[in-house]
Amino acid sequence: MFPTTSALAAGLSEAVDRRQLVAYYQPQVDIASGRVVSVEALARWIHPEFGVIPPNEFIPVAESVGTIRQVDRSVFTHAVRQIAQWTATSLNLELSVNISPSELVPGLAGELLPILESEGVDPHLITMEITESEPILDLPVAVRCLHELRDHGIGVSVDDFGTGYSSVSQLRDLPTTELKIDQSLIRGSRDAAHEALDAVLAEAADRGIRIVAEGVETHDQMNHAIELGCHRAQGYIIGAPMGPEEFEARFR
Ligand code: C2E
Ligand code: CA
Ligand code: CA
Repeated sequence: MFPTTSALAAGLSEAVDRRQLVAYYQPQVDIASGRVVSVEALARWIHPEFGVIPPNEFIPVAESVGTIRQVDRSVFTHAVRQIAQWTATSLNLELSVNISPSELVPGLAGELLPILESEGVDPHLITMEITESEPILDLPVAVRCLHELRDHGIGVSVDDFGTGYSSVSQLRDLPTTELKIDQSLIRGSRDAAHEALDAVLAEAADRGIRIVAEGVETHDQMNHAIELGCHRAQGYIIGAPMGPEEFEARFR
């Protein structure tokens, strides 16, 4: 049996307090060297009754009931601790973490930096991923918030790129360090839409923005990512999101 939305909403704060919200890790490879250089932390709720609940079940609920900030901070803290532990044992990886657009307000850097500091993790290892599939309601405020992160060395990724709201001009406004191309574009064949994408990606690469392909499942899709000029790739072909023990066993 799966929990109802109202049961999820009621249980979320408690789940944070009881440390039931954890991160799974999905590897990212550097295409040129073939090495795993980074991980994306993806939230999982380890529920005592229902088992592992995926984020698509509870993140939208957390967003609507106002607990998303708590949830995201909990996942961030968890993942930063893990990276600190891996760094200390010579498994050197960068870390990407998702954040809801509603959290792009002043003070975000002031919340994230002490967590990094207390774990001794260099902010330059961290990239925050912001989905393009939801609108940023107050763009000037979000831009200021993201510049604060950048000023401290934290990277900014536009996630699900190609699916949504960030027009090319908006992209120019945001202090972006990475574009994460949505899996629908990696799967699609080359057509007119892709010529437009090629132009955007060429401009991004010229500006030093890293291009990451996500949802890469097959060799054809990997070749497509290479043709698009992607620097990094992530997807089941390399590894699905997994717990830290499995990650270490496979990638250390
Ligand atoms: P996302 O950030 O776009 O993450 C990628 C999703 O695609 C993940 O689903 C991942 O498991 C899945 N995926 C990875 N490789 C492949 C592949 O090769 N093929 C296919 N079909 N899928 C692949 P997941 O972990 O269920 O996460 C779903 C979404 O939930 C994420 O999409 C993200 O938007 C959101 N999310 C996850 N963790 C957090 C979090 O801590 N905070 C917030 N605000 N959102 C989160
Ligand atoms: Ca993401
Ligand atoms: Ca994505």
